[in-house]
Amino acid sequence: MATIAFIGLGNMGSGMARNLLKAGHQVNAFDLNAQAVAALEVDGVVAAESAAHAVKGADAVVTMLPAGQHVKTVYLEPDGVLAHCRPEAILMDCSTIDVDSAREVIAAAAQKNILMVDAPVSGGVAAAAAGSLTFMVGGTAEAFDAARPYLDVMGANIIHAGDAGAGQAAKICNNMMLAIQMISVAEGFVLAEKLGLDAQKLFDISSKASGQCWSLTSYCPVPGPVPTSPANNDYKPGFAAAMMLKDLRLSQSAAKNSGAQTPLGALAEQLYSQYTEAGNANTDFSGIINMLRKG
Ligand code: NAD
Repeated sequence: MATIAFIGLGNMGSGMARNLLKAGHQVNAFDLNAQAVAALEVDGVVAAESAAHAVKGADAVVTMLPAGQHVKTVYLEPDGVLAHCRPEAILMDCSTIDVDSAREVIAAAAQKNILMVDAPVSGGVAAAAAGSLTFMVGGTAEAFDAARPYLDVMGANIIHAGDAGAGQAAKICNNMMLAIQMISVAEGFVLAEKLGLDAQKLFDISSKASGQCWSLTSYCPVPGPVPTSPANNDYKPGFAAAMMLKDLRLSQSAAKNSGAQTPLGALAEQLYSQYTEAGNANTDFSGIINMLRKG
């Protein structure tokens, strides 16, 4: 069994770390929030006093942090991961961050001959807890092979997307599609309401017709048709609107820098910005239907 340093034990990281423990690994954990680590000590994590302390002697390092600046701090600062990990360790950043930061950190690791992948995830807190995440992995084939046994413990689908940063590119493209599709499904239900068409009937028809998509059949934004969707739980996340807005901002920044035309992605960013500014940052992203309904 391996010794794994886990940094960032928030909503996602805590479930992922528990699965590594369950698989029999030793997990040395660090989070700026000491309570987040303490909550996992009962499960068997070993609390570390710093990132540097956590990675000393570890075979693998997993990070699950909010954004690019946190990842750069944790890896690149003098008291960070790269300065203190073993050269043989495999480094996996599973946070959703911008492609440029991911490439910068992986290049810094490569300069020290340390293998690293960007491995953002799809699936929410429930999938993190169940070990059924999808990992989109960027990095060399050698780094992917070294990361795979650890990712297998935390996920159900592990896909090598390409070179460094390709995992993040896949993640932001996927979530831009998801946001646009969620808005499209929500608009369909709002129009159906105005036309006097029953929501369940629209679901029964569109889930078998060409309007079918994950936002409709797995995450329906109206209560009823899909019992597990957050619409049945007062739009509690699930996947918070603030997180969706963060991913849309990453996609729009990438679109601008690369010259890609993404007009619906830009509109989705505006709508989610409006939705979160109206006090809904911590509600599920499918709750945008309530804003669209009001007009
Ligand atoms: P979170 O805010 O619950 O957890 C992040 C943790 O990182 C916090 O506990 C925080 O204290 C810690 N942290 C921040 N800076 C640190 C530092 N310098 N050193 C050590 N610890 C530090 O966030 P989350 O929901 O777990 O999301 C983590 C990442 O996963 C994000 O990039 C998010 O976009 C992505 N993601 C989240 C979901 C979801 O449904 N929540 C789904 C897919 C992807």
